[in-house]
Amino acid sequence: MVQASKSEQPAAPVPEDGTLDNLTDAAKGCRACPLWERATQTVFGRGPTGSRVMLVGEQPGDSEDRFGEPFVGPAGRLLDQALKRAGFDREAIYVTNAVKHFKWEPRGKRRLHSKPNRGEIEACRPWLDAEIRAVRPRVIVCLGATAAQALLGKELRVTRDRGKAIPSPLAPYVMATVHPSSLLRSPDEETRRREMERFVDDLKKARAYAAAPAEPAPSPASAPPRPAGRKSSQAAGRSSTLVQPGSRRSKAL
Ligand code: SF4
Repeated sequence: MVQASKSEQPAAPVPEDGTLDNLTDAAKGCRACPLWERATQTVFGRGPTGSRVMLVGEQPGDSEDRFGEPFVGPAGRLLDQALKRAGFDREAIYVTNAVKHFKWEPRGKRRLHSKPNRGEIEACRPWLDAEIRAVRPRVIVCLGATAAQALLGKELRVTRDRGKAIPSPLAPYVMATVHPSSLLRSPDEETRRREMERFVDDLKKARAYAAAPAEPAPSPASAPPRPAGRKSSQAAGRSSTLVQPGSRRSKAL
């Protein structure tokens, strides 16, 4: 199994002029963890600078690795359907992953998704922080537990906290929901239909947050960068307020 070894890896070569074009180019040569060795290419985020909403998944899958774009495989198609039903224009949204290279294990002729470990997520965090600085979204939506715990801390439970706005210095509104690939693993059609409804409802909340009065935006110096999730983990544990969509009202966790 591929393991990250931080001590032997160079840091992610994030350029100081962190425009999205520069970041995308620089990330092509990243060797900050071993995942590049077995992947076809770096799959950087896609979407316009100034997108009000940023979606953060876990890592590229098999299709994304081949095409070089995030969320273009089966899970991406489900995401497209859900975004459309929630009233989003996918082209106006910035879509990325916590880890930019596909981690996989061989199973016969297939390449099976393998979950990135903490060292790999931390090694890749500078790229995600740079994307957040460049895009400055109003709403960040973490898709699945890996992205949610990387950005909001290990205490975050998607099943419990989905749809809630968690206070974070990363953006005025940061929330979590499931990864669309989880819908693909539904045991039957009825479950998939029900889970799709819940996913669409969560995305509608993100849309409401995007239209809500903005909380004070984090300054570039105070938002990222910081170690992957450890501070935010503590902060999430301490913090304790959940903001309702379209409202400044908060309630205790
Ligand atoms: S997964 Fe991230 S940190 Fe690791 S080599 Fe790829 S871009 Fe660099």
